[in-house]
Amino acid sequence: MLKFALAGNPNSGKTTLFNNLTGSTAHVGNWPGVTVDKREGTYKKCPEPISIVDLPGIYSLSPYTPEEVITRNFILNEKPDCVINIVDATNLERNLYLTTQIMEIDVPMVIALNMIDEVKKAGAEIDGKKLEEKIGVSVVEISALKGIGIAELMDRAYEECKKGRKGSTVLKDCPLGHLINDVRIALEGSGKVDNPLFHAIKLVEIDALEAEAHSDLIKMVEEFKESFCDDVFGDDFEAVIADARYKYISKNFSSVLTKPAGENRLLTKSDRIDRVMTHKVLGIPIFLAILFLVFHLTFSEDLFYLGALGVISEGFVFLEGTFFEGLFGAGGINSPGVILLTFLDTCMGALAEAVAAALEGNAAGWAVGLVSDGILGGLFSILSFIPQILMLFLFFSILEDSGYMARIAFILDRILRKFGLSGRAFMPMIMGFGCSVPAIINTRALADENERTATIRVIPFFCCGAKMPILTAISGAIVMQFGIGNVDVITYSMYVVGIAVAMASVLLMRNTTMKGEVPPFIMELPAYRAPQFKSLMIHLWDKAKHFIKKAFTVILASTIVIWLISHFDWNWSYLPDDRMNESILAGIGQLLQPLFTPLGFGWQLGEWGWIFTVAAITGLVAKENVVATMGTLAACITGGFVADEALGGIDAVMNMIQATNITVPALIAFIAFNLTTVPCFAAVATARAELPAKRKFNYTLLFWLATSYIVGTMIYLIGSWWWTAFIFAGIAAATIAAIAANNRKCNCLCKNRRM
Ligand code: GDP
Ligand code: MG
Repeated sequence: MLKFALAGNPNSGKTTLFNNLTGSTAHVGNWPGVTVDKREGTYKKCPEPISIVDLPGIYSLSPYTPEEVITRNFILNEKPDCVINIVDATNLERNLYLTTQIMEIDVPMVIALNMIDEVKKAGAEIDGKKLEEKIGVSVVEISALKGIGIAELMDRAYEECKKGRKGSTVLKDCPLGHLINDVRIALEGSGKVDNPLFHAIKLVEIDALEAEAHSDLIKMVEEFKESFCDDVFGDDFEAVIADARYKYISKNFSSVLTKPAGENRLLTKSDRIDRVMTHKVLGIPIFLAILFLVFHLTFSEDLFYLGALGVISEGFVFLEGTFFEGLFGAGGINSPGVILLTFLDTCMGALAEAVAAALEGNAAGWAVGLVSDGILGGLFSILSFIPQILMLFLFFSILEDSGYMARIAFILDRILRKFGLSGRAFMPMIMGFGCSVPAIINTRALADENERTATIRVIPFFCCGAKMPILTAISGAIVMQFGIGNVDVITYSMYVVGIAVAMASVLLMRNTTMKGEVPPFIMELPAYRAPQFKSLMIHLWDKAKHFIKKAFTVILASTIVIWLISHFDWNWSYLPDDRMNESILAGIGQLLQPLFTPLGFGWQLGEWGWIFTVAAITGLVAKENVVATMGTLAACITGGFVADEALGGIDAVMNMIQATNITVPALIAFIAFNLTTVPCFAAVATARAELPAKRKFNYTLLFWLATSYIVGTMIYLIGSWWWTAFIFAGIAAATIAAIAANNRKCNCLCKNRRM
């Protein structure tokens, strides 16, 4: 099968084109570096099927980042039949820099001049024909997004791949042109090397990968360099060549794009927005405010604080007594997220009741229990959170697609640097809010091994979608049961606790076991764009599918097992609900329960406390299990609590609170423990595969256990006895002092050794 590769700058539209060609739904992001690995699909509308490879975005073919190495090795070694070089026409000159490098390889090539729609919208004009004449490579104007020119592009690429192509360069007339030519002839003479022109230029640049491969020829370059004095060329040939490329581009190609009178209006619009959004002082407060708004819209039961402010303190009088009363909330407007949650909860409650009523009297006692508590109780406590999870993702996707997230990385780079990370680590961390698995894989973009290890370790602290029900169910129950706080504030705070623990851990690691330089972070900010409805929906659908599939497989299976071992004793005789404390599961839970005493959900909880222990343990399989397990087991606690039919997640936790008298600090500690402890099985397996060394994996597990235990204990103790804060502050100060002293000692030693 023919193989075409898509290569271009980050954010030039490669993945959009890839999706368009292959009908795939790969993630498109208004974010440089979304595609770290290469991706393959098939295009079927040419005379023969063509395999399309989406390569990571790069600015040049030098070997400085993993993306550059992946792309370069792919084109050189796998020899695609054609390279489609995507060029963002709104950023022509910078994009052509890479083009002038790809041209030098002996590979058929077509330039796809993308975003033609945007160029037109800005009132600019582009002359593809002129570019084609000057550069000597086929040029097709396209819009990957609007699907313009795609068929023509592929026809041209197909034609080109049949013709073959020899590399050509724009560096012929530059000061180093002769040297390049001499090296090329020498390489061709040796007869062993493909792509002599490309390698010759890289040799003259004294490119690290190249110098290794051709140690003999590098001497020729070094000799040449010595025989000409530095002040003619300078001694940095790489810079000379880069300069020559840019000069050539601006001299020959800048006339291809005719900007509207004045300047490029498109860019100035983004610039104007950025003057506020990336403001030195306001940037971070704005970011925090936007995040809070997102949480408020998703979780609040008093939207815009109309209830608290007394605007509608009476609630909606005209809805009283109707079905809608619960839906829109009393004493305030529910957020869209809560409205959906309530709606789903009501429907599922009714369904569960109907099922239980149908079974009652017609089936054995244990069968009724298994179906209505084990299966429905467990499943419904989780499914009811889907709307809120999806809403949160919708908001995150909008922020990402609009180009705002890229700004945040840029703003946060300054701060992250103080913690020993670069802005590059931000994207994997943000992805952690979705799911740790892709987030951990995305750390491949981090060049420094220690930075990568530290980042992988803290990614699970960014509360993923599966952990969200823990936060929502427990904070919902806290508000309902104790009448304190707001659900959105508690949820938001727990997200912040996760981030704070992550940052503190990174700081600690980067100053002790995971030291290293922070590589510079260079990123160009993409233009602000309106998020695409279709792309948002694809994104959400993926998420929903994943979640529902998991609910009906792993989580369903877990809840059934949990119900069974909580209703049978070691002799396999059935125990009714009121004897659950004698079950196998209770036995195991009670054995481990004392371990959690410092965290507030250990022995102090009495006879039902083991349920918290068991819930936390089942979370190791999938984090949704924490609430699902409570849903299953809380439904069985008898004795006149909230409800005894199938329960939503919040009711389940309320039942647990009433049965155990657990305190608010202990509940918060329970959330924090689950948030920071060993993540689910899938994330653990991914971390194991991605961590650079096996030994680091064992330490990572230990790190997760220790962190969650310490954080949980701290929250419980400080929450229960505020003065214990001083003890923890003292320990923290001592730790910092010890590390600082140790680092100073090391620095002295190193300096002495150097002298
Ligand atoms: P990649 O980083 O090269 O894979 O780029 P993506 O495919 O992720 O696209 C980056 C951004 O550019 C996304 O917001 C796309 O919606 C947008 N985009 C891609 N192609 C076009 C186009 O032809 N016109 C316009 N207006 N936007 C586009
Ligand atoms: Mg991409």
